[in-house]
Amino acid sequence: MSDARVGLVIEDDHDIRELVRTVLSQAGFDVSVASSGAEGVLVAKTLNPDVITLDLGLPDIDGFEVSRQIREFSDAYIVMLTARTEELDTLIGLESGADDYLTKPFRPRELRARIAAMMRRPRSVADPADAMPGDAAADGGAAHPERGNFSHNGLELSYASRTVVVDGKEMNLTRTEFELLHALLEAGRTVRTKSDLVRRLRDEDYDVGSYISEADERSVEVHMGNLRKKLGDSPQKPRWLQTVRGVGYRLAPGEH
Ligand code: CA
Repeated sequence: MSDARVGLVIEDDHDIRELVRTVLSQAGFDVSVASSGAEGVLVAKTLNPDVITLDLGLPDIDGFEVSRQIREFSDAYIVMLTARTEELDTLIGLESGADDYLTKPFRPRELRARIAAMMRRPRSVADPADAMPGDAAADGGAAHPERGNFSHNGLELSYASRTVVVDGKEMNLTRTEFELLHALLEAGRTVRTKSDLVRRLRDEDYDVGSYISEADERSVEVHMGNLRKKLGDSPQKPRWLQTVRGVGYRLAPGEH
């Protein structure tokens, strides 16, 4: 099937590589694999995958560096698979551009759920192969009339075209960053808690009461930090992303 989505597994451990390959295949992806970091970067460049699972401990270059290199040219959904449980590692991983992480051993259905949630979000319309029937991008966002176009302090976001323009310049955001920014624009001056935002990224309703760990909340902080850097926003004098200490985030007031 030519319109199947492409998955890439970057993993040097044979058993884990085959397990993840199976999970992605069953989820409908055309799967390629790479057993080193350099090979992974090369394959990512060639195949433009939608989803990449990335082992942190690779024989040549580590997963952090692989993620940084892939982010130079790709907006793939990157899930880091890490054997290390240190929180610092996962945070560095997210800072290097990964969207999410799972600690080994992980449950295959957890990986499936994370990927399914993220794949419900279309990529940019510049990639028509991504516009699957039923996706918001395929029908111009008509399925979500409440989502649409936002304009705030020189920033324009279009949900249908997945674009963000700041002072006339188009921003290159990951899906996770786009989703967080969209959530804040939608909420206006209402505060979104970190738990709210974690649920948003997992495509759950805000009020389902599912368990959100401290690490999950910290990951939102890291993504917000990355987003702030890309937008050139200041934590002290925010144009868009205002931190509400100990709670979460909201949109900064409008400039007049
Ligand atoms: Ca490894």
